[in-house]
Amino acid sequence: MKGRTLAGYISVLAGCLCLSLLFGFTTLGVQLDNDVYDFLFRIHPPPEMAASSVILGIDERSFQMGTRNVRKIVAEGLEAIEGAGARAVAVDVILAEPDDDAAVDQRLAQAFARTKNLVLAADMIPRKGWERPIEPFARSAAAIGHVHSDPDFYDNVVRHISLEKMDTRSRYWAMALEAYRLAKGAQQITEDPGSIEVSGLRIGGRQSEGRPLLVRYRRPVEAYDSSVPLVTFWELKHDPKAREKLKDKVVFIGVTADSAAQDRHMTPYSFGRPWPGVEINANAFETLARGEFLRPLGNGVAVLFCLLLAAAAGLVFWRWSGWLAYLSGGTMVIVSALAPYLGFRNDIVFPYAAPFASAWLSAGLAAAYQHFVVRRALRRTQEEKERYQKAIHFVVHEMRTPLTAIQGSSELLGRYKLPEEKRSEMAKMINAESKRLARLIQTFLDVERLSEGEMDLKREPFPLREVVEVCLDRVKTLAERKKIGVQCAEIQDATVIGDRELMEYAIYNLLTNAIKYSPAETRVSLYSRVEPGEIRLSVQDQGIGMDEKELKNIFRKFYRTKKAEASGEVGTGIGLSIVEQILTHHGGRIEVASTVGVGSCFTMVVPATVSPRPAEVSRPVQI
Ligand code: ADP
Repeated sequence: MKGRTLAGYISVLAGCLCLSLLFGFTTLGVQLDNDVYDFLFRIHPPPEMAASSVILGIDERSFQMGTRNVRKIVAEGLEAIEGAGARAVAVDVILAEPDDDAAVDQRLAQAFARTKNLVLAADMIPRKGWERPIEPFARSAAAIGHVHSDPDFYDNVVRHISLEKMDTRSRYWAMALEAYRLAKGAQQITEDPGSIEVSGLRIGGRQSEGRPLLVRYRRPVEAYDSSVPLVTFWELKHDPKAREKLKDKVVFIGVTADSAAQDRHMTPYSFGRPWPGVEINANAFETLARGEFLRPLGNGVAVLFCLLLAAAAGLVFWRWSGWLAYLSGGTMVIVSALAPYLGFRNDIVFPYAAPFASAWLSAGLAAAYQHFVVRRALRRTQEEKERYQKAIHFVVHEMRTPLTAIQGSSELLGRYKLPEEKRSEMAKMINAESKRLARLIQTFLDVERLSEGEMDLKREPFPLREVVEVCLDRVKTLAERKKIGVQCAEIQDATVIGDRELMEYAIYNLLTNAIKYSPAETRVSLYSRVEPGEIRLSVQDQGIGMDEKELKNIFRKFYRTKKAEASGEVGTGIGLSIVEQILTHHGGRIEVASTVGVGSCFTMVVPATVSPRPAEVSRPVQI
């Protein structure tokens, strides 16, 4: 691939990468990531494990036991489980205000005072700050943990909880974390900016992000079952064996009744049924108890992954073509779709949208780029090569004719004693033919040297009119042979600075082309016009003409139009490319206008100094 094409290709891939990364941040991208996460979550649950916690829930029936006062129910429940052997008791009920009935609060405070490893709840209310338990309750708590939930912005699903939550003044660890710490008998949580450690368990999560913990929800057996073993307050009262279920467990107390629990949220297992907050907290605790965490892929690694996919897709379509490339490109897309699944199996959460978009876009655009740009360039090179070969063929053929003549004549001269007149005729012929040969070779060399910029241009002043006259003289025979009238208007007295011979080559080439590509008995006109600082010299014919597409190509080396080839006129297709280069080297340019079947007009525009006399037009010279 050429430098420019390669740079274009890389830019396209870089564009794909940027677009994919941006897509990852759009609502659609984030939602796609979340949906894939939920899907993988459901199809790949971790191995079943006995629960370490129990929810002691206030369900509908518990509210029908004579009171709807949650504090009263909790107080009675705590009294009932006293001595049941719970490792810790976490009460997910906000107790920020005193109850209307002081006796209820007093009974609850007494129950709290008798509860070992008690965790009470604090919640952060936006624009208000922390709501924490009132002093009579807080006094008995071994810890206060926050129960603030952070549902995802776009779909309100709780996929993670913040292990640490702080406002400007105070911070709390999550209730599940405090319950875990107390159950493990740990005194404190040690922390650094990237992780925390409690009782030998290291939990990753940046402090700056609130130390998010992806909750590994337990799968409920049926959609409406509780995911964590549930004992209701009603059962506690009516079934003497119910309290045995709390032994050695961490007990999460909260409202589970649909009619009363306000803190209900969707989870990946919700299937339309929001889960009560206490169940989410119990699941967060179970995640800690399991000790195997889902870790999101870092942003840097995710970007790198997208970059790799784009680079691989680019490489595939650069190296290969056809079905092999399409197959490999398809594989990239499959890899991007499979990576989240394979990652999830290893507890790593991959983003889905950005890599998938990166693979699709890069493979798609790389394929399109290859198809439209590179293949086209290749086709052009191929065409150029074919034309080059044709031209070489022609040149070799052209060289052979003078060579044969030179060879034959020199042999005759050496072998026989020829009359003086014949000898001199042959010597002249040898001279003429070798000059023709030299010119042919020179032309080819000139093209190469001119295009490589290796040719030293002479810089001498010469009158353009003189050069035009020489050329007109040279094309005379050719024009006469086809009965073409060459008409020339008076050429202004313009002095050009540059290489006279090359300029002659250029004008001669335009004139011979005009004659070559015109039918017999037509007219070729040559005229000039002066403009500030330059002279315009036009050669107009009534020949075969060219269409738009052909006009774009005629200055390319070895290009010949189909009509020119069909005309039977010999040519190499390099003349115009040399003319263009000659003019460029003189600080000028060439313009062309043409209509198929009507004729063409080539105009050379050359910087020149013009003698200060009025421009004259036409003193037609018919040759
Ligand atoms: P060639 O040796 O074929 O004449 P040139 O480089 O001089 O090569 O011209 C390139 C091609 O441009 C020609 O082969 C012909 O197809 C087209 N061309 C040039 N001049 C004319 C013209 N006056 N009229 C029509 N076609 C032209």
